[in-house]
Amino acid sequence: MEEIKIFVPASVANVSCGFDVLGFCLEPIGDVMGIRKIKTPGVKISKITGQKLPLDIKKNVAGVAAQAILSECPSSFGFEIEIHKNIKAGSGIGSSAASAAGAVYGINQLIGKPFSTHDLIQFAMEGEGLASGSPHADNVAPVLLGGFTLVRSMSPVDVIKLPFPTELKAIVLHPKIELKTMHAREILKKNISLKKAVTQWGNLAAFISALYTEDFDLMSRSLVDEIVEPMRSILIPEFEEVKKSAMRAGALGFGISGSGPSVFSLANGIQNANVIASAMRSSIDKIGIDFEIHISTINNQGIKIISSK
Ligand code: ADP
Repeated sequence: MEEIKIFVPASVANVSCGFDVLGFCLEPIGDVMGIRKIKTPGVKISKITGQKLPLDIKKNVAGVAAQAILSECPSSFGFEIEIHKNIKAGSGIGSSAASAAGAVYGINQLIGKPFSTHDLIQFAMEGEGLASGSPHADNVAPVLLGGFTLVRSMSPVDVIKLPFPTELKAIVLHPKIELKTMHAREILKKNISLKKAVTQWGNLAAFISALYTEDFDLMSRSLVDEIVEPMRSILIPEFEEVKKSAMRAGALGFGISGSGPSVFSLANGIQNANVIASAMRSSIDKIGIDFEIHISTINNQGIKIISSK
């Protein structure tokens, strides 16, 4: 294979009770990346469209991730990367994760797939470290593996892909303000009470169980974030109002996507998802902020190959 063109999806991380460990992959929103072999060894980002981001490989997560995979598997040829961004940086739906995951996925294909998809998480995480200050896997894992993923450990990387009911749908609302992950991390308290921790891990364990058993009532009881949401929701316009309207409209749960400002709801079935989306829309419409709203199935495949030669 000399070149590959891929669709790299957006993702939701920090799923309520699963801060830093639970994420899922979205279907309709994503970047397109082209990666081709070139004679000169090394990595070059030749073009970025859709957004102003650095071409310098040390300042772009795609470049850092690409170098991470090549340091484990040196190659006599080099790689040229093109990125067509549709996922806005700092939107909370894994913009940097998509570029990091796409770069390592594409290069792995071009060098004959020496690494498993699970192995690629480590390299993509190194790219993510550039964007958020410390490597984390809860966005790159669902992008690479598809579906819902649980990061049990980052060192060594141990990620579990979880089942989910096909009726499960996500609604993602992106208020168009920028919130950098680094800033959203700074406002987090470093210590939490044992009482809150017990509640949180009870909810996380129950939610995982509900994914396996397809128990929507249990999902709804357990999609609660006692720890991070109270600290971060103040950074998001109309958070409480939009949450109330989504829950009243029948959402299984509602939370901050990644570190925000995007928020998400989960719904049982497409009809409920439509009702919830319109309730969320009318609630945020009132404050006259520019926003986008997407209804998505859970993308069980992750990255898709558009073409290769
Ligand atoms: P998100 O959750 O949407 O990825 P982050 O705040 O984690 O948002 O990452 C965005 C930051 O990463 C921005 O400062 C952006 O300049 C930087 N960045 C570097 N390379 C990329 C890239 N290829 N795609 C998106 N963001 C990138």
